[in-house]
Amino acid sequence: MSSFNARSHAVHSVATNRRDAEHLAGALPAEAGSAADPTEYFGCNVFDDKAMRRYLPKNVYKSLRTTIDLGRRLDPAVADVVANAMKTWAMERGADHYTHVFYPLTGLTAEKHDSFLDPDGKGGAIAQFGGNALVQGEADGSSFPSGGLRSTFEARGYTAWDVTSPAYLMESPAGMVLCIPTVFLSWTGIALDKKTPILRSNQALNQQAARVLRLFGVEPAMPIVSNGGLEQEYFLIDGTFVSARPDLLIAGRAIFGAHPPKGQEFDDQYYGVIPSRVLAFMADVQRQLYRLGVPVKTRHNEVAPSQYEIAPTYETGNLACDHNQLIMTVLRKTARRHGMSCLLHEKPFDCINGSGKHLNYSIGSPEVGNLFAPGDNPHENAQFLVFLCSVIRALHRHAGFLRASVSSASNDRRLGGHEAPPAIMSLFLGDQLTDVLEQFRSGHVTGSAGKRLMNVGVDTLPPLPADPGDRNRTSPFAFVGNRFEFRAVGSSMSASDALVVLNTMLTESLEFAADFLENYMQGESSKLGEAVQKFIEKVMEEDSAVIFNGNGYSEVWQQEAERRGLPNYPATPDAVTVYSSPEVVELCEKYHVFSRQELKAREDIGLEQYLKTVHTEACLAIRMARTQIYPAAIRYRQELASSAASCASLGIPASLDTLKELSDIIAKFENALHVLEGRNAALAWAPGEDGLLASAREALTTVIPAMEELRRWADKLETRVADNLWPLPSYLEMLFMK
Ligand code: ADP
Ligand code: MG
Repeated sequence: MSSFNARSHAVHSVATNRRDAEHLAGALPAEAGSAADPTEYFGCNVFDDKAMRRYLPKNVYKSLRTTIDLGRRLDPAVADVVANAMKTWAMERGADHYTHVFYPLTGLTAEKHDSFLDPDGKGGAIAQFGGNALVQGEADGSSFPSGGLRSTFEARGYTAWDVTSPAYLMESPAGMVLCIPTVFLSWTGIALDKKTPILRSNQALNQQAARVLRLFGVEPAMPIVSNGGLEQEYFLIDGTFVSARPDLLIAGRAIFGAHPPKGQEFDDQYYGVIPSRVLAFMADVQRQLYRLGVPVKTRHNEVAPSQYEIAPTYETGNLACDHNQLIMTVLRKTARRHGMSCLLHEKPFDCINGSGKHLNYSIGSPEVGNLFAPGDNPHENAQFLVFLCSVIRALHRHAGFLRASVSSASNDRRLGGHEAPPAIMSLFLGDQLTDVLEQFRSGHVTGSAGKRLMNVGVDTLPPLPADPGDRNRTSPFAFVGNRFEFRAVGSSMSASDALVVLNTMLTESLEFAADFLENYMQGESSKLGEAVQKFIEKVMEEDSAVIFNGNGYSEVWQQEAERRGLPNYPATPDAVTVYSSPEVVELCEKYHVFSRQELKAREDIGLEQYLKTVHTEACLAIRMARTQIYPAAIRYRQELASSAASCASLGIPASLDTLKELSDIIAKFENALHVLEGRNAALAWAPGEDGLLASAREALTTVIPAMEELRRWADKLETRVADNLWPLPSYLEMLFMK
């Protein structure tokens, strides 16, 4: 028998760690200087407005500011000066390298470090960083997934500085690195990343939103952009457990694991007192993020044991996505330092809640404010209703596209679970607003409050409810007073895809709205109220099927949604094919957000990642089943058998029930293992045009069920085999020992 049991070692060391950690947590504030006033160090590692003002000549500062604020093109003449200032600023703070940070289609962050130093030709070195190096970089990066957009022999890729996302310094014990957020394109200008489409969709959105605003007499000078507030959920468990569980280590989720006797049934974790070890971790994360200028605002315990949330205050969508990537990086890195592991997987543990990343979405600018805020006067009301109805129309027409933007093998495990919104995209508006809009449809508008007759744009429209009433957690897309909360984004994914789809689908509806209103008014501004009324009627007539205020988790809704013709793609292989559907291609090409080719690439990458995830998990399951679970089971059977044999030889009556039952489970386990091995081995990349799709579907319909079946018997074994023989840390230990 093995003399080393990784699990008992893990349990022992977690118990020891915990004592140390609590000791450390108690000692932290004084030691780490955390008492310092955060307002003093907030953004100290960011080349922000304050730094620019200080390090740039006035005219250059002004030129750069105009580029950032008004979305103008960067004047190449200023690039050299900006680069030099940035280098000075960074080197004064200890940086010796710079990197263009970009966001490849893996959904992660990529960076390649370059030193500031260049040989001076006389045996020494000088520090250099010119405008060219700042504005444009060249990255090979041929090994990133590109969905056939770029074969490796044309591997050249370009990174270009995104001036709207400030450069920052990343600290590590190995030194400081100047990080420059960039887009990543092929040499032919094809977007190979998650940032380029955000910038493109913002431009399109701005054009159509400004057209609508002009009809209301607003002439915006600043670009209208999308805003995003991203709530990030995560699990935090002791790192030693992860080392003892290959599934957590490689796949980020527990592929096996019997349900613990206690989970989240008592609701005793949500908003509960944060354990001191976790609090020390959170405070550390927060300090680092403050230094990076990420406006972290809230932290709390989530519903599941060992699940937490961190949320910054909202920012422009582009910046929010960059900052969310930074948050994920800092969470992972800091957890390691605290002897823990941060799991960002959407469903690390079956039977308890998974993790999401709510995207709070609004559009506007500092100049025109938030365009989803109902406002106080009738004129604002009418404008709000046009934007609101544009969202309704957009969601109804492009629900499938939005669903596709949040698809992945891991998020499939969460969507439609008992805690997460279903894969059907519907809109929660709340009863009051729905009532107001229904009145428009019926043509009898009586008002929401005082039952007064109202006419949009005429001064009798009563104030619209800013608070939609009760919160509805079961809806994937909910209006929450002055923004929409999109809850289907997965915790590990980049929020960029969802943001791009929201921007693009809304752009189309805003164009429709502007066309409709302009046509109706024919240049007569006095007809605005009537035009708005007709527009609302039309949207309610054609698109209100997407509004649903009921329980999204219920079985009845699935049927009701089908009756209403709303798409339902429970699994990724079908969801991602929407990317290359004619409607989506037309939509994206029209607004220059994605070309047909870029969409096809995203579909292929989605399928490829899906296939690889399922295949890897199956390999892991097989390995663990064969080398960890099966040996434990037969050892225990051996124990039972020899005990029974001893009893029999001594003439002591002993029941064989447990032994028989165990043998039976082992047989079923072995059988399930053989099935999974066969199916996983057969999972090859099918040739042909739709080969990838066919293989992904096969993974979904054959390999995943075989993995579930194997798990069923493995988990049964866990509840039968002697505790001291079981090799894997249990749910109970992982979730409750902290
Ligand atoms: P809850 O858990 O109640 O949904 P949180 O406070 O955790 O609320 O998160 C709400 C998020 O929504 C925050 O990131 C917040 O800054 C963001 N938010 C608030 N107003 C807007 C807005 N107008 N546009 C986009 N995001 C917003
Ligand atoms: Mg929240």
